[in-house]
Amino acid sequence: MDQSSAIQIPRRNKAIVRSFPYREANLALASRDQRVPTPLIAGEFHDSLTGLPGLGYLPGVLRGLIGQARSSHQTLALVAFKIDDFRLVCEAYGRAEGNKLIKSVASILRAQTDPEAIIVRAGTNKFIVVLTGLAGAPDAIKPVQQILDAIAQPRDVAGQELRITASAGISSSPNDGDDYETLLRNCLAAMHESMSKGPGAMRTHTGNVALDAVRRLRLRADLGRAIENKGISLHYQPQFEVHGGRICGVEALARWFPEKGRAIEPRVFIPLAEQTGMIGALGAWVLQEACRTAARWHVAEESPPTLCVNVSTHQINDEMCAIIRRAIEEARLAPERLELEITEGSLQGNLEGVIDCLKQWKALGVRIALDDFGTGFSSLSHLSRLPVDRLKLDRSLIQGLAADTRNAAIVRSIIALGKELDISVIAEGVENKEQLQMLRDFGCTQVQGYLLARPAPAEDVESLLSSQWAIRKTRFEAVRAASQLRIAS
Ligand code: C2E
Ligand code: MG
Ligand code: MG
Repeated sequence: MDQSSAIQIPRRNKAIVRSFPYREANLALASRDQRVPTPLIAGEFHDSLTGLPGLGYLPGVLRGLIGQARSSHQTLALVAFKIDDFRLVCEAYGRAEGNKLIKSVASILRAQTDPEAIIVRAGTNKFIVVLTGLAGAPDAIKPVQQILDAIAQPRDVAGQELRITASAGISSSPNDGDDYETLLRNCLAAMHESMSKGPGAMRTHTGNVALDAVRRLRLRADLGRAIENKGISLHYQPQFEVHGGRICGVEALARWFPEKGRAIEPRVFIPLAEQTGMIGALGAWVLQEACRTAARWHVAEESPPTLCVNVSTHQINDEMCAIIRRAIEEARLAPERLELEITEGSLQGNLEGVIDCLKQWKALGVRIALDDFGTGFSSLSHLSRLPVDRLKLDRSLIQGLAADTRNAAIVRSIIALGKELDISVIAEGVENKEQLQMLRDFGCTQVQGYLLARPAPAEDVESLLSSQWAIRKTRFEAVRAASQLRIAS
């Protein structure tokens, strides 16, 4: 692909940092602009060589960021970097060259990360970077690799051209822990593991999913049983037309309420099902159950809402077409009432294979939506080739709408682009009236979010649909009666 012709949609991940008040209060402390005098507390809170905060800055700031990430269902990653062979450089060329190296790595970290990203010096040749606003743990890998590549570029050390590398370890929340101590321990453990594999390596913490190995194995077994025994249920979240407020669609969302303990979020159990190969069985059940439920929503005189079902990347394969056909035939659901949501991430890799599969699904008469749109790096040039009917603007773009003019520009452009390409656009995660008003002004015609309705069991959504239809029917009857009166007179 010609990279120069590809328009990239940048990931926006600042909102979470912006909205965190602790950061505002500590802006001076965390300031990365060395021209600004930094009134820092001496010692572990400030490193005079690099101008970065020290490790003591992290616990307080991280507590708030972890909470923010949890409430916005986003992932936060803690990345530990250690300069390889630092002692060797100091022994060979002296401490001054060592210091130059540290300053240079600190500048690379600054240059390679978002201007608001948190970077601390955590030891002689060790740094910690906090990445926020990630859609999932794998999203940390690309930026970390870019940093490692930048550090490994040839550099001048005492007149010699040398290649100095760094090793990195990543832990992410919620997967590898949801408190500062656990995340720090896990990212350092991952860093030491990568150091043991040789210079310039990167490792993610292996005890994924906020659990140690034992709990993880148990969860895996529990999930298998829950799938077999129908321990997974579905909630449904309505989608609305901006003008008139009609419910135009309903998204099916998997829920796992184990017999004991707290509900487990889809962001935890869906990746687990994917890793263990259980997603095929789970996905097929979700599709069948959702189709059966939606088939009941047909009421005379009203066009029933579209049923939206999430499809994992692992389900984009040759068998899926037969699974979809069986689900709609068994439920007697009109195929055009079913919309399958794939994420932008599914397009990475074998794009041609994905397009082939989507075309087969489209041939059945179902619709396709591109979920979480605007979070990945999908090239807009792909859009014209993809058989998609709808783009779902990701929640992270909607969150930053009012505060970030660049976010607003991206959202407006995607809505305009959808119109040009005749692809409808729905905004996800609309939480307040300001966002709704801005979306309306931008010409967005459909919305979904807590402001309007949260995901709920099928019965609740059914009664919402019935009451909406009853109101519309009464209005319709009133209008018809009025027009008949006019005709008669
Ligand atoms: P998604 O497909 O993007 O679904 C939207 C998610 O955003 C849902 O989270 C929904 O509850 C949440 N949401 C909707 N409106 C708002 C809002 O205004 N504010 C906030 N903060 N959140 C909002 P949920 O149910 O936790 O699902 C998370 C993700 O898990 C889904 O994201 C989807 O990617 C995946 N998922 C859920 N069910 C299934 C499934 O049956 N199959 C597959 N493959 N993935 C699923
Ligand atoms: Mg979805
Ligand atoms: Mg989404």
